[in-house]
Amino acid sequence: MFDVIIAGCGPTGAMLAAELRLHDVRVLVLEKETEPVSFVRANALHIRSIELMAMRGLLDRFIERGRQRPVGGIFAGITKPAPEGLDSAHAYVLGIPQPVIDHLLEEHAIELGAQVRRGCAVAGFEQDDEGVTVELADGEQLRSRYLVGCDGGRSTVRKLLGVGFPGEPSRTETLMGEMEVGVPQEEIAAKVTEIRETNKRFWLRSFGEGVYRVVVPVAGVSDRAEPPTLEDFKQQLRTIAGTDFGVHSPRWLSRFGDATRLAEHYRVGRVLLAGDAAHVHPPAGGQGLNLGVQDAFNLGWKLAAQIRGWAPETLLDTYQAERHPVAEDVLDNTRAQMELLSTEPGPQAVRRLLAELMDFDEVNRYLIEKITAIGIRYDFGEGPDLLGRRLRDIDVKQGHLYGLLHRGRGLLLDRTERLTVGGWSDRVDYLADPTAVLDVPCVLLRPDGHVAWIGDDQQDLDDHLSRWFGMPAN
Ligand SMILES: Cc1cc2nc3c(=O)[nH]c(=O)nc-3n(C[C@H](O)[C@H](O)[C@H](O)COP(=O)(O)OP(=O)(O)OC[C@H]3O[C@@H](n4cnc5c(N)ncnc54)[C@H](O)[C@@H]3O)c2cc1C
Repeated sequence: MFDVIIAGCGPTGAMLAAELRLHDVRVLVLEKETEPVSFVRANALHIRSIELMAMRGLLDRFIERGRQRPVGGIFAGITKPAPEGLDSAHAYVLGIPQPVIDHLLEEHAIELGAQVRRGCAVAGFEQDDEGVTVELADGEQLRSRYLVGCDGGRSTVRKLLGVGFPGEPSRTETLMGEMEVGVPQEEIAAKVTEIRETNKRFWLRSFGEGVYRVVVPVAGVSDRAEPPTLEDFKQQLRTIAGTDFGVHSPRWLSRFGDATRLAEHYRVGRVLLAGDAAHVHPPAGGQGLNLGVQDAFNLGWKLAAQIRGWAPETLLDTYQAERHPVAEDVLDNTRAQMELLSTEPGPQAVRRLLAELMDFDEVNRYLIEKITAIGIRYDFGEGPDLLGRRLRDIDVKQGHLYGLLHRGRGLLLDRTERLTVGGWSDRVDYLADPTAVLDVPCVLLRPDGHVAWIGDDQQDLDDHLSRWFGMPAN
């Protein structure tokens, strides 16, 4: 008997497993692939995800394997420098290929004690009042208290759950692969610049050691289960560029569409959905992996609280209440970006206009905060603007705030040095720090770093501790 079975060991499943392990939840991750996949989808982490890594002590590992670059050009590829003073201590893009992200997150989950079984596909399940019986493709049955489908866009769990997945099907398709080329770099650069004047979905970029990443849109959609061939790439390159650049020796070839869909429910009883299993959208702005990892970060401590027995009755349902609107917003901004990437004259004119508007600092800042997810504010009710937002990594007496959040517990940051977390001290840490850079007396942070309360009154604090962390231990 496990507490939680997670279907899928992509970035969402691995992050969730690690978050649950911080609270000693018995976790089994079932992954249908026997080996990690080597082809690259996501290629970067945005600010909020970088912050999450810092909050769990993982950032050094990621920085070691990645490359920091300025935040800019992330909305529909419109190149504008980031505005000054973005509200983060980690205001950069961290370029890092998805296979490395997946590996680091899986490694982290295993280090914390999660079991990962590869070559095990979830094929069915049944839930009852006490738990879920999960059936694997080979007929083996396993039992857990909860099941979370982190099994990607074609999620078996979502389908078996019967949850609606409304939205739009793919209307365009893009071939993507890594391969060698047979013409000099200068020739490629000149041609790519010329095509990208009007076709922003086209790309051919060196990834070192003679290998190029080729991204080339195709007309219409095909069966995505069928991988493309090198000949498909050559043909499409000739159509768009008038040359196939002599491409050869592919490392991997794949295709992706622009289907845009959102699960109607993130939870049905003891079964939940997260990551691509709950939402799919085109990769414009590079948000899907980031969104999934952030879903896991939101869900982990709540599900752990439910299992440990201290969750307030409605806590688990705040997962959908908070994350569904965030995904809705991401879907919408990717729809908008896809329009702006069109080669039609109308959308190109809108793109030029938006590029002009982005010269206004506030417009640029708004779009960057949206894509990097640092602009998210959950609805925790009436209160100051900071309530419901994540708190940036500020300097505190002991160093950095995020350094105090590695264990995934709540934290009261008390500048008055008068308050106490009392009977919640087994779930919430306390830091008296009059020097903390804050313009409010005290903040209560949830384990995901969002501000759950602001004030200076002990009774009010106790009410909010109950709201988020259940009954006190004594
Ligand atoms: C071309 C492209 C570029 C992208 N670029 C970016 C980017 O720059 N930034 C970004 O943030 N996102 C990007 N994305 C999106 C990102 O790749 C996904 O959003 C991310 O991988 C979702 O993670 P996940 O863990 O939810 O799902 P997945 O990564 O799909 O993982 C699901 C896992 O579940 C396993 N699985 C499936 N079915 C079962 C089953 N029945 N039982 C057990 N296991 C199962 C799969 O094998 C897989 O390992 C891009 C996507 C594409 C296609």
